Amino acid sequence: MADNPFPDLDTWRKTVRGWLEQHADSRSGGQLSSRPGAPFADRPWGEGSDSVAVFHNLSTAEELAILRANQAWQQAKDDAGYAAVGWPQEWGGAGLSAEHAQVFAEEEAAFVTPPGAELFSVTVRLVAPTVATFGTAEQQDRFLRPLRRAEVLACQLFSEPGAGSDLANLSCRAVRDGDEWVVNGQKVWTSGAPHAAFGELIARTDPDVPKHRGLTAFLVPLDRPGVEIRPIRQMSGGTSFSEVFFSDVRIPDGLRLGEIGDGWRVALATLGFERSHAGSSRRRPGGSWEQLAAAARHFGRAGDPSVRQGLADVYIGATLLRLNAERAAAAARAGHAPGPEGSIGKLAWTLHMTRLTAVATEVLGARLVADTGEWGAYAWSEHVLGAPGYRIAGGSDEIQRNIIAERVLGLPAEPRMDKDVPFRDLRR
Ligand SMILES: Cc1cc2nc3c(=O)[nH]c(=O)nc-3n(C[C@H](O)[C@H](O)[C@H](O)COP(=O)(O)OP(=O)(O)OC[C@H]3O[C@@H](n4cnc5c(N)ncnc54)[C@H](O)[C@@H]3O)c2cc1C
Repeated sequence: MADNPFPDLDTWRKTVRGWLEQHADSRSGGQLSSRPGAPFADRPWGEGSDSVAVFHNLSTAEELAILRANQAWQQAKDDAGYAAVGWPQEWGGAGLSAEHAQVFAEEEAAFVTPPGAELFSVTVRLVAPTVATFGTAEQQDRFLRPLRRAEVLACQLFSEPGAGSDLANLSCRAVRDGDEWVVNGQKVWTSGAPHAAFGELIARTDPDVPKHRGLTAFLVPLDRPGVEIRPIRQMSGGTSFSEVFFSDVRIPDGLRLGEIGDGWRVALATLGFERSHAGSSRRRPGGSWEQLAAAARHFGRAGDPSVRQGLADVYIGATLLRLNAERAAAAARAGHAPGPEGSIGKLAWTLHMTRLTAVATEVLGARLVADTGEWGAYAWSEHVLGAPGYRIAGGSDEIQRNIIAERVLGLPAEPRMDKDVPFRDLRR
C-alpha cells in the first residue's frame, strides 16, 4: 500500500477485501468475527443472535471483553495501515481520500467484526482527531498513536446537570495554580468513564467573560486523586454512562488542549467529528427493517393492514437513510467538509428508530414485556428501551431541528439574550 498512495478504487477494494478475509477472524476474539457476515435477511429464523439492542446490557467483564476485542481489531488495522485511511500521514493515517476510507468501511461492514463500544468510538473518532487538531507537538507525540490505536481510552467530559444542549453554560471550574490547574465540579452522562484512562474535559476558566469565551479544554487523567466515577444504571439495563465528580483535582498545564479561553472551539471541533460520524453510513445499533419484517412474518402479523402500513413506512425510512448516507459520502468524496447537513442524517436516523419502535410494539404486543425465552421476541425490548437515548445523545432531535432551520434553511435564529453577558452574571 505504501508504494502507491492513491491506488485506484477497484484495486483498493480488492486489496482491502483480501486483507479482511485473512485477518477479520483471529483478531476479534473467536465468535465475534470470521467470515463475511451473512445479511440477516438470508438467515433462517432462529439462527444466530437475536439481539437488536441499542445499548448493551452487560456485566463489567462482558463490557471489557467487547472493548478489548475492539482494541485488538483496531490495532491489527493500524499495523496494516487501515485504521485511519483518510487521515493525513502526519497524524499516522494512510493519507488516502475520503472515497478510499468509504470503500474500506463498506468492505469492513460485510464482515463480522466486534460489536460497537461507545468508549472505543469516542476515543478514536472524537478525542484522537481533536488531539491531532489542537494538541501541541509533545501532546501529539505522547497521545496520538495510543489514541488512534485505542491503546489508551478517553471519554468525553462535556455535559453537566445544568449544561447539555446549552453546553456553553457549563460550570465545572478549573483554576490556575502555578504550573497546574485545580478542577472542581461535576460531569454527567459520560459514556464509558470507568474504563477510560483520560477524559477530554471542558471547564470554565474565566467566569468574568461571556459564557462561550471563558472555557478551556484539558486532557484529564482519571486516576488522579479527587476523581470519583459513579456509574448510572439505564432502564434498558447496563451502565453505559457515569457521573464524574472532580474535587480539587490537580492537572499539569501540559495537559491543556488548545489555548486558555479557546475551549469552545475545541468542543465544537469534537462535536463536529461526532455529528459527521453520526450521519455516516456505518453499521448502526438497534433493529433493522429486515429483522422487523421477519418478526412480523414469523408471528403471523404480516397480513394485518396496520402492520403492513407500518412496515412500508419503516422500509421507506431505511431507504431514505441509505440515500442520505450515500449523499453525505458523495459530498465527502467531492472534498466538502462535513457541515450542518450532518444534522439531517442524525435526525432521520432517530426518527427511523422511533418508527421501528412503534411497529415492533404493534407486531410483538405482550411478548415485549415478558421474557419467555422465545427467540426474536423479548429481545426487541432492548431496542424499544434504548432507542430514545439516541434522540438525546450528540444533540437532541430538537437541537438538530434548530440547526437545520437556522443553518441549512436560513430561518431566523433563536433569540440569544446571554451572548454578551459575563457568565458570572447569568441567571442559573
Ligand atoms: C446515549 C447518550 C450518550 C451520551 N454520552 C455523553 C458523553 O459521553 N459525554 C458527554 O459529555 N455527554 C454525553 N451525553 C449527554 C448528551 O450530550 C446530553 O444529554 C444532550 O446534549 C442533551 O442535554 P441534556 O440531557 O442536558 O438535556 P437538556 O439540554 O436539558 O434538554 C432537555 C430538553 O429540552 C430540549 N431543548 C433544550 N434546548 C432547546 C432549544 N434551544 N430548543 C428546543 N428544545 C430544546 C431538548 O431537546 C430536550 O428535549 C450522552 C447522552 C446520551 C443520551
